[in-house]
Amino acid sequence: MFGIYLHIPFCRRRCNYCDFITYAGKDELMPGYYAALMSELQHQAATLQDLPNQVETIFFGGGTPSLLKVEWIEALIDCVRSEYGLADKAEISLEANPGTLSPEYIARLLEAGVNRLSIGVQSFIKRDLALLGRIHNPFQASDAILSARRVGFTNISLDLIFGIPGQSLADWQANLQQAVALRPDHLSLYSLILEPGTRLYDDVQAGKIQPVSEDLSADMYELAMDTLVQEGFSHYEISNWARGEAFEAKHNKIYWKNQPYLGVGAGAYGSLNGVRVANTPSIEDYIHKISDLRSNGKGTFPAAVETIKLDPYTVQQETMMLGMRLTREGVSDFEFRNRFGEAIQDVFSKEVKRIIARKLAEWGNFPDGPHLVLTRGGALLGNQVFQEFV
Ligand code: SF4
Repeated sequence: MFGIYLHIPFCRRRCNYCDFITYAGKDELMPGYYAALMSELQHQAATLQDLPNQVETIFFGGGTPSLLKVEWIEALIDCVRSEYGLADKAEISLEANPGTLSPEYIARLLEAGVNRLSIGVQSFIKRDLALLGRIHNPFQASDAILSARRVGFTNISLDLIFGIPGQSLADWQANLQQAVALRPDHLSLYSLILEPGTRLYDDVQAGKIQPVSEDLSADMYELAMDTLVQEGFSHYEISNWARGEAFEAKHNKIYWKNQPYLGVGAGAYGSLNGVRVANTPSIEDYIHKISDLRSNGKGTFPAAVETIKLDPYTVQQETMMLGMRLTREGVSDFEFRNRFGEAIQDVFSKEVKRIIARKLAEWGNFPDGPHLVLTRGGALLGNQVFQEFV
C-alpha cells in the first residue's frame, strides 16, 4: 500500500487544546499554498525514485481541509491521478470541521472524488465544545453527518474526545449513544491530552480548570470498548472502531503497518524508501521553498527541514510499535518475515516474552499464521507494550 497525505494548515480559530501545525488568520495565503501543493506533488512525482506504481489512499488532513475550495481539492486529486496513478478503489479521505460545512459543499466534495468524510464532532454537548474552543455547535455536527449521508457518502467517520474537564461518565455515555444513533461507519475516540503551550494546559496549571482523573478517563475508554462492540463495531485499533473491516481507515493503516507514504505541504511528514521526512512547519517558508524550486529546480524533498535515514533495526522496532496498535490483527509473523527475512521471535524474543508474561499480548491464529496481538488488558495499557519496542 502507498498513500499521499496533504496537510492543510489553516483554521478559522485555534481550539483551546490544539498543538497541531495549523494557523488562524492566514487565509490570504491559501491560493499560494494551493499552488505550492500542486507544484510539490508534480515535482516529487518527477524526482522520487522507486515510487510504488499507484496511490491507494489520499488523505487531506489538518488543520481544516474543509476550508479549501472544492475546485482545488478536485484539482489536487486529479494531479495525483495523472502524476502518480490512482487505484480504481482508492480511499480519498478529507477531515472536515462541522463549523465550515454546508450541504452544498458536502455534495460537491463527493462529486470532486472525496469518498470518505472524517467529521470532527468531538462532543455533542455544548459545554464541552465551548471549553474546547470549537467553532461549531452540536446541531451543526449532527446536520453535517446527516447531510453527508443524504448526498451519498457511504463512508463517514466521526471523531470524539473523552476526558474533557467537567465531563462525567454519563456525559460520555450520552455522547457515545448520540454518535451511534447517527450511524457512522467509523469512529475515532481520543483521550484529551493537555499539551504544553495550549490555553487549556495553562488554565489547568493555573487551577482554573480541574482535569479529569486518570481513573475516570480509563473508565470512559472501557465504556467505549463495551458499548461500541455491543453496537456491532469492531475495535481494530487502539483509538478506532469500524463497522466491519471494509470501513477500517486504509490510509491510517499505512502508518500503523509502517508502509510508505508521501507527506505534502507545510508540516507534513512522510516515510519513503527507509527515509523519514518532515517538511517545514511554516506556511510562508513552505511557499517560498516551493517557489524557489520552480525557478531553480531542486532535488527530492524540496520543503524538508529534516530527513532521517532509518537503519533496519529501527524500522523493525517501529513496525512492532505501530503494528501492536492494531487491536484486531496485531503484527503478522508471516508479513514480518517476508519484509525483514527473520521472525518476530528472532528479533524481539525478550520483549515478546515479557509482554506475554504480563498478559498484555498473546499469539493469535490467523489464516497466514500467528499474529502477536494485544489482549484487552494490553489495549488498556497500550503504552507499556509500545515502549517495549522503542
Ligand atoms: S480545528 Fe482542529 S486543527 Fe484546527 S485548531 Fe481546532 S483542533 Fe486544531
